[in-house]
Amino acid sequence: MGLQRSTLITRIGELITNEGGGFAAITDGALVIEDGTVAWTGPAEKAPAADSVVDAGGRAVLPGFVDSHAHLVFAGERSAEFAARMAGRPYQAGGILTTVAATRAASDTELRANLRRLAAEMLRQGTTTFECKSGYGLTVADEARGLALAAEVTPEVTYLGAHVVPPEFAGDVAGYVDLVRGPMLAACAPHARWIDVFCEDGAFGADEAAAILAAGRARGLGPRIHANQLGPGPGVRVAAEAGAASADHCTYLSPEDVDAIVSAPLVATLLPGAEFGTRHPYPDARRLLDAGAVVALATDCNPGSSFTSSMAFCIALAVRDMRMTTQEAVWAATAGGARALRRPDVGHLGVGARADLILLDAPSHAYLAYRPGVPLVTAVWQSGRLTAGTLP
Ligand SMILES: [Zn+2]
Repeated sequence: MGLQRSTLITRIGELITNEGGGFAAITDGALVIEDGTVAWTGPAEKAPAADSVVDAGGRAVLPGFVDSHAHLVFAGERSAEFAARMAGRPYQAGGILTTVAATRAASDTELRANLRRLAAEMLRQGTTTFECKSGYGLTVADEARGLALAAEVTPEVTYLGAHVVPPEFAGDVAGYVDLVRGPMLAACAPHARWIDVFCEDGAFGADEAAAILAAGRARGLGPRIHANQLGPGPGVRVAAEAGAASADHCTYLSPEDVDAIVSAPLVATLLPGAEFGTRHPYPDARRLLDAGAVVALATDCNPGSSFTSSMAFCIALAVRDMRMTTQEAVWAATAGGARALRRPDVGHLGVGARADLILLDAPSHAYLAYRPGVPLVTAVWQSGRLTAGTLP
């Protein structure tokens, strides 16, 4: 004990490091892991010796994916709603209440089992950091329970009491907002790092969202927001004024919204799984990138609008349908997600970074979009430990 075991991964066809802030890669590279962090990167022929060696055989190594937006504490499923929607019925935010009813009725054991199954599914697919929201409890006890469960599987826990107004507060939105920023927040804040609001027609308006985020901030929670998903609205402006880390969805943006994202600055987190699952138009990633915005990609994994846990799928959608380059999409799914969670230790493989990385059964990152739907993630390390998959 006490010895620092080092591992050299060598003959890496393409080593994505994201060093220096943007996408960056080393061809024919190598990487040394020591004490759970990245200790060295460079060309394979210059690699130092290590206690153990992994031969990547020309495959690509990337930082683990950082999924900065997911709703994993829930019970039940809504495949019938999805099928109906695909048959021509529009998505409405009220579908969330189906999951609220199922979640309230579920035992802790059931919720924990579903959460852990999804967390394991993410890990197998290369996601080494993920955020997890509450938002299907919507009572003081059910929200606090959801966050306590989420905290068992990730440090990136987000209180989303303001997901929708629950049926028992129908006609009394102000009363529910008082609960969310009062007793519910008091019960939830100890379990959470972040606070989120669904700012949208049919959910919460600008003043309500601003009041809820301000209350969360006063309790030490970092604001983030669901904004401009289903139509134009005030969400991005509210996010900028609240000092939020990220505005998520950003599907319908005015020129002023784009300016606010760039100047705040806010990370624009794009969730193409939601547009895929609702047949809405995809967000205009090109417009954001060309304006100089920082863009993240995340799954929005939830049982209603986007029941995917696959960051590779989101990368493929972003490249195919949102005009992101393969480099931009992979950066957004790694370093971009880390920015959205204000986590300088992940999303890149610079020296000192957490050794969270994935080995692809492919020679380059482009294969993630070039071979959509194919499970290319072969091995996953977290803090230098192999936690999923197998070595070649
Ligand atoms: Zn969401």
